[in-house]
Amino acid sequence: MKKSAIIIGSGIGGLSTALRLLSKGFDVKVYEKQNTIGGKTNQLVNEPFTFDLTASILMNKEIYKEVFSYANLDYKDYLEFMKVDPTYRCFYHDGIHYDFTRDIVSLIKTLESVSVKDSIGYIKLLSEVYERYIIANDHFLQKTFKNPVDFFKPSSIMSAFKTKTFSTSYELISKYVKDEKLQNFLCYQALYVGISPFEGPSIYTLVPVISQLYGLWHLKGGMYSYVKALEKAIHNFGGTITTNYNVDEILISDGKAVGIKSKDNEIVLGDVIISNADFPYTMDSLIKSDNHKGKYTANKLENMKYSCSTFIIYLGLKKKYPQLSVHNLYININFKENIDFAFTGILPTAPSFYLYCPTRIDNSMININGECLSIVVRVPNLFFNNVIWNENTDRFLRNNTISALKNIQGLEDIEENIVYESYLTPHDLKVDFNSYGGTAFGLSPTLNQTNYFRPHLKSNAVKNLYFVGSSVHPGPGVSIVLLSSKLVTQEIMK
Ligand SMILES: Cc1cc2nc3c(=O)[nH]c(=O)nc-3n(C[C@H](O)[C@H](O)[C@H](O)COP(=O)(O)OP(=O)(O)OC[C@H]3O[C@@H](n4cnc5c(N)ncnc54)[C@H](O)[C@@H]3O)c2cc1C
Repeated sequence: MKKSAIIIGSGIGGLSTALRLLSKGFDVKVYEKQNTIGGKTNQLVNEPFTFDLTASILMNKEIYKEVFSYANLDYKDYLEFMKVDPTYRCFYHDGIHYDFTRDIVSLIKTLESVSVKDSIGYIKLLSEVYERYIIANDHFLQKTFKNPVDFFKPSSIMSAFKTKTFSTSYELISKYVKDEKLQNFLCYQALYVGISPFEGPSIYTLVPVISQLYGLWHLKGGMYSYVKALEKAIHNFGGTITTNYNVDEILISDGKAVGIKSKDNEIVLGDVIISNADFPYTMDSLIKSDNHKGKYTANKLENMKYSCSTFIIYLGLKKKYPQLSVHNLYININFKENIDFAFTGILPTAPSFYLYCPTRIDNSMININGECLSIVVRVPNLFFNNVIWNENTDRFLRNNTISALKNIQGLEDIEENIVYESYLTPHDLKVDFNSYGGTAFGLSPTLNQTNYFRPHLKSNAVKNLYFVGSSVHPGPGVSIVLLSSKLVTQEIMK
């Protein structure tokens, strides 16, 4: 008889694990509390505009493809990748902008326009971080660490030293690149895992470096096309996904996970239970007895570090803005101070932000001659209870952001061309997706909360219970969560 797997949550982690297990012969049922699937990687449709709700930057294309080849499927039957070039257009408050192209010849031209010294430094930084990435990928990202011996063996320790993560992203970047504009461009991307570039380990400089060396991609229809592709493949294998199904408890008997109970007291039994719901939320709410939480009791959760959150403005525009590229950054005055605010419980007054305008290359996301624009600002998570999230907060952030946006040459009239506008707040992330503390990226990937020190994929306290997603090993980001699904499937197959 087939083994059965129950997956709580249809985020990227839940769906990709479902597909992998189905391809290994499991009977898989996914239960999702929302009425749509995808979790935070979701979609906001307001005709004629289609927005990706959160994730938009597609790095590590090969990992996206690997999920399909793992299931013996041809990704081309499901997905259409489009090249993004320039990878970024970076605007600065003083009116200057730079394009960071895939083409090394024009990239060097841009860098030399800053200074030859910075251009040489930039290339040296790429080279050093590239080497660290190869080591991290071989020794940490693609491995699980269940026991201390797995992590503390000499080869892992040697590799950890070679990744030289002990300085901050800013310290590493500024060692090679002296120009402040280039530094800020690189530092902003190290923020993508929700950790400060001025405090977080320098390993996260691999974000800008991978984007440059492996390129960025767009999926036709937006990032949500990946969710739809997984859904189609899951259905083709006979898996089921039930939406509007709020799981209330993971049922545990004799130290073994045996099923789930819904908010309506329905019980479903299974051989393995995998929670894709945010790990600290799972520990706090779905596992009822302290005996089954291992070390992740309320006290431990309270003392862990959490990533920052985001405030997103979605604008439907009735005019084309060729001044924008697909991925853009706006670096405002007092960059460091305003970034630090997101980690110290203060709202930014001069926000720097990421701008996503997929309709620059993808007409399938719009039905008029206009643009879909998402503006993503880093803000404190809900553990900072001095920030009250209400309409005034939204307005404050919205007005500061739009007035900065109007500094970009050619975007001065943007406010007159808005025909749709809405926001996503940390509160929405908490209420809609049970993101613990309303964070954007789950547990912060600090040195003390990565690799062996990050929550493991297999419960140490309860048999047949597994976890997948941003807050467990290897960490946040769509491609990293896809790796998490590969590792958890390997654990289950063992
Ligand atoms: C603003 C923002 C921007 C981002 N940008 C990028 C980007 O550009 N590129 C990138 O690679 N990554 C990006 N990320 C990160 C990426 O979106 C996440 O790492 C990824 O989507 C997380 O997937 P997941 O499977 O871990 O969890 P989730 O998406 O959180 O999925 C968990 C699922 O579990 C469900 N659930 C929770 N509790 C229950 C319950 N009790 N019963 C039933 N279901 C439940 C939730 O509703 C949800 O669907 C971004 C994230 C945010 C927030």
